[in-house]
Amino acid sequence: MQEFDLIREYFTWSSDQSSVVLGVGDDGAICSVEPGYGLVTSIDTLIAGVHFPESTGATDIAYKALAVNLSDMAAMGALPKYFTLALTLPEMDPSWLQNFSQSLKQLSEQFGVSLIGGDTTRGSLSITISIIGWIEHSEALRRSGAKIGDGIYVSNTIGDAAFSLWQLQNNDIPDSDCFAKLNRPMPQVELGRSLRGVASACIDISDGLVQDLSHILKASQVGARVEAEQIPLTKVLTDHVTKQSDWSLVLNGGDDYELCFTVPEKNQEMLGDISKRCDVKITQIGVICESGVLEIVGAKNIGKSYQHF
Ligand SMILES: [Mg+2]
Repeated sequence: MQEFDLIREYFTWSSDQSSVVLGVGDDGAICSVEPGYGLVTSIDTLIAGVHFPESTGATDIAYKALAVNLSDMAAMGALPKYFTLALTLPEMDPSWLQNFSQSLKQLSEQFGVSLIGGDTTRGSLSITISIIGWIEHSEALRRSGAKIGDGIYVSNTIGDAAFSLWQLQNNDIPDSDCFAKLNRPMPQVELGRSLRGVASACIDISDGLVQDLSHILKASQVGARVEAEQIPLTKVLTDHVTKQSDWSLVLNGGDDYELCFTVPEKNQEMLGDISKRCDVKITQIGVICESGVLEIVGAKNIGKSYQHF
């Protein structure tokens, strides 16, 4: 099968977005942007054996490749609109491609994003997705807006994905809810949209709570005090932390794709409604302070943060 046939067969589906003027099939795609919006873009690469175990199925790989990009849109408060896909495959495997494209299509439809272009090459399995969203002018959630006194919050529970990876690596049967978070993280797009004008800074947790919160602190030139006991955990992870007296999965485990954000006191009363409307648990874990450092109170054996290199 030629590249063009492969794209036509697996990666061409109609978009119902009127802003896509020209989609897959030409040298470039054309999209129009409504007045009042700017474009926000982000890119992520997933490599087999690095970002997911070699044994991961095509359905989960496709889901995660798009979900992590949607999560970056969520962190910006943006409305995801389009994406492009660069796919490097070791071989031409029709059933793998069928599963991959079906899963990609399903998630893209769920979030209303259109595939507008791509490229395929032969090599070790790797997937790069570049996503483009719209953001109302001056409403983007940035890392740099946290102020002294702001509360620090996270969505849902933290550390589930890392815990299930730890279970796999220790020949344990992974807890099913945590395992779902590893392979099927839910991008918090609706929450991100709702936090516009409410949160002062926001990031999605991809590399671990400590590292990602540190990005906010650095960009905002502030410090933080986090109470380890306040970090929301699932029951199985609470048991693990208690038994092993080890906080490293909670604090440094990546791949949660929950949002970590800061909210000034005057906006904090809005969080209850937002939590209900988005059906997302929101928990305060600490407060922004002057110190310039991240202090974690009540955690032993913190471990090391994820390093890209
Ligand atoms: Mg991110």
